[in-house]
Amino acid sequence: MLQHELFQQALPLLEKIEQAGFEAYFVGGCVRDTLLKRPISDIDIATNAFPQEIKSIFKKTVDVGIEHGTVMVLYNNHSYEITTFRTETTYKDYRHPDTVTFVRSLEEDLKRRDFTINALALDCRGKLYDFHHGQMDLQEKRIRAVGCSHERFHEDALRMMRAVRFAGQLGFGIDEQTKQGISQHAHLLEKIAIERICVEWEKLMCAKEKAKGIDVFVDTGLYVYCPYFKEEEQAIKHFSTIQLSLLPVPCHWAMLVYYTQIKRENISQFLKAWKLSNDFVNQIKVMVSVLDWRETSEWTCDRLFDVGETLTCLSEELAWQMGLIEHKQDVEQLYNQLPIKSVSDLALGGQEIMALLQQERGGKYLGEIIEHMRQEVLHNRIKNTKEHLSEWILEHYGHIRS
Ligand code: ATP
Ligand code: MG
Repeated sequence: MLQHELFQQALPLLEKIEQAGFEAYFVGGCVRDTLLKRPISDIDIATNAFPQEIKSIFKKTVDVGIEHGTVMVLYNNHSYEITTFRTETTYKDYRHPDTVTFVRSLEEDLKRRDFTINALALDCRGKLYDFHHGQMDLQEKRIRAVGCSHERFHEDALRMMRAVRFAGQLGFGIDEQTKQGISQHAHLLEKIAIERICVEWEKLMCAKEKAKGIDVFVDTGLYVYCPYFKEEEQAIKHFSTIQLSLLPVPCHWAMLVYYTQIKRENISQFLKAWKLSNDFVNQIKVMVSVLDWRETSEWTCDRLFDVGETLTCLSEELAWQMGLIEHKQDVEQLYNQLPIKSVSDLALGGQEIMALLQQERGGKYLGEIIEHMRQEVLHNRIKNTKEHLSEWILEHYGHIRS
């Protein structure tokens, strides 16, 4: 169980905490993923030592969330988050525990965790602690809330999104009672910040078996409480059936938007409601516009130039994975054949054009000339050299000279 190098590196921490007279365990995702023989990326450590006690055991610590009981320990050039066992009593706002109470027993701590498969702990001798039949659920590929699902979703509505996202990532089903709990409390998702919903939704949309999670997301009505999803049941269902592999997050959004009825002029509004960054919004809009024409037409030098290298390659791959085109074009090669990739590649700059036309100021005329010149060069109608461009400018715009 403890073979993974991340566990090996962290073992001395657990041992040190034990030597100081406390308990410490690996908990959560790292234990679950090890049992599933899936790769683990980070480890969480839980302890019955209070934050101040952890700080007195280790030399280098950082207070990262001390009010929640989390202390970061720097050890052998790695950093570890060590969290004190706690219970979370009441959640009046459905998202933040009103009070965090530190407790001394592992069993109490595991009770407040979301799902049985996430409520497993491992000590430094490799002994597994499983008070909620998490191993059985792992074996039966099932997401099941710890304790009463109704209470758990009422306490923290984000857990409903976590349930469907884990279902998609792990390819698991969701336990019937747990599903009922989601149906009953779906409306509480409205209380959760969009940013946090979005983190889970993006993990779900990129998940290996997303249909497993999205089916429940739709059936339980969770989707209704996500921005602009209410009218898009069909689109979301269709989206769930098409698996994209190895493409970055904006591609998944572009595919989703493509299937929705959202008017093209409202895409920004939709994506902004999900609080996506401007950069993401721009990338997604460009890719959707490519998908819109790609089924029926080919790449041209204007399109290659406008879309740019990265998004051209991604959109072509996306169109292919979505089945919009039968053959992928070697767009990388087409792009590389463009005589210029941006306006700054033009052999003649604004200052030089002004000098040539004996003008002291720039202005609208200059922008028009540059755009015209860009078109001519891009379409291989003039060569991109100073001589050819100068000659062309004098021929077409020489009359501007005073
Ligand atoms: P991932 O591999 O995606 O990081 P994870 O299980 O490690 O999965 P985290 O969000 O990192 O998920 O949380 C770590 C652990 O903390 C979980 O395994 C779970 O035990 C607990 N946890 C996280 N969020 C909640 C929550 N909203 N309610 C209850 N327990 C939670
Ligand atoms: Mg984690």
